[in-house]
Amino acid sequence: MLGHRSGQADEGLAKRLSVLIAGGGVGALECALALHKLAGDRVELTLLAPAAEFSYQPMAVLEPFVRRSPRRLELARFATELNIEFVQDTVVAVEADRALLHTGAQRVLPYDALVVAVGARVSGALANVVTVDIPGTYESLRSLIEEVDSGAIRSIAFVAPKPTWPLPVYELALLLREHAREGEIELALSIVTAERRPLAVFGDAVSAALEEILAAAEIQTVLGTEVTQSEDRLVRSDGGEPLDFDRVVALPRLQGPAISGLPANADGFLPVGALGELIGVPRVFAIGDATDFPIKYGAIAAAQADAAAAAIAAAAGAQVAAAPYDGSVHGFLLRGRSLPRLYFSARIAGGVALDSRAGETPTRTPETKIAAQYLGPYLDELWASGARWLTGPWTGDEAGAGAPR
Ligand SMILES: Cc1cc2nc3c(=O)[nH]c(=O)nc-3n(C[C@H](O)[C@H](O)[C@H](O)COP(=O)(O)OP(=O)(O)OC[C@H]3O[C@@H](n4cnc5c(N)ncnc54)[C@H](O)[C@@H]3O)c2cc1C
Repeated sequence: MLGHRSGQADEGLAKRLSVLIAGGGVGALECALALHKLAGDRVELTLLAPAAEFSYQPMAVLEPFVRRSPRRLELARFATELNIEFVQDTVVAVEADRALLHTGAQRVLPYDALVVAVGARVSGALANVVTVDIPGTYESLRSLIEEVDSGAIRSIAFVAPKPTWPLPVYELALLLREHAREGEIELALSIVTAERRPLAVFGDAVSAALEEILAAAEIQTVLGTEVTQSEDRLVRSDGGEPLDFDRVVALPRLQGPAISGLPANADGFLPVGALGELIGVPRVFAIGDATDFPIKYGAIAAAQADAAAAAIAAAAGAQVAAAPYDGSVHGFLLRGRSLPRLYFSARIAGGVALDSRAGETPTRTPETKIAAQYLGPYLDELWASGARWLTGPWTGDEAGAGAPR
């Protein structure tokens, strides 16, 4: 990848490649771990991220139900362990022709290879609702659960615009249904989504399995519509009757990061090929929610990270075969703390889900909530060891059989 783009320069690169990873989320950490494993000392890694900690999003839906504070990992410690330089800062622009990255704190960082893993920007959240994935989500969801317990509210809608992360609205609604049933609390639950069928992004088998689960949980669905707010009501883009609920929980709409100097589509997402290469920009890779891949999902960010890491490791002279990302995706949906998980897999090609599968048997090992080859086992091991530099330590027991790892 670097070879055919930069030709002559790559002879030098093969000695020791300076790799700059912008981001401190799923894609960035997976890429760092993969490069550490595949390229070892052939690369010199720098991690550039604004926050001091990595937060593990998939747990955010479950934590308020089991009263565990959010799970986090200190990036400085992660970097030290892997012998990576950690720079707490942001990328604001890239001068690709000079292979320089400009940061928010006015640093200018040179690179041989740059991996942009900055995630998506969130926007378009409804006002006066519980929004998932903003600081304070844990507290807002805890208050919501308390309101349910006190009988103060009788109906809740979970709203998912497009594009957004696919799982959390379904998981939250199912966890809340389980909670209400355990407390014998009457509660009307609805999912209002832009999707044509539940989890349509993962194909028909996954939608069919989830439709059955939602029906058994008595969760209504309003499909194929976006909503806006007018006073206390949700106004549907499809012209249907406005909707009324006591409370609304919403996911944000995702937009691309649109970094100055790098190409982006109309929504700001970075256009990438199967090796994670940023189309038309030598030495730059982009992975995860920041890219124009049609689904925003941790397992996809991790798979793209692995493809980019293999290409960079090969350019650094490691004996690693190219491993283009083929669109395969694995995951599981939490149906409750004590109910079996719904495992699923699919292959996304041209925005369409092929080979869609769903069932109660894991589709891959190890079974981690974000299917990430290196990051999944890495976090599992840390959490199992109760490493002292982790915050929010987790024991699976607290969440029963449905606890994700
Ligand atoms: C509640 C919830 C549940 C989810 N459940 C699942 C699940 O079960 N399975 C699954 O696979 N996925 C799940 N996801 C989706 C998954 O978390 C995301 O798809 C994944 O985190 C994307 O990884 P990323 O590296 O692209 O971005 P992120 O993980 O969002 O990381 C982006 C990083 O870039 C940093 N950054 C931002 N701007 C800049 C900048 N200018 N310069 C440098 N760094 C910057 C951020 O601080 C962050 O560290 C869930 C998401 C949510 C919100």
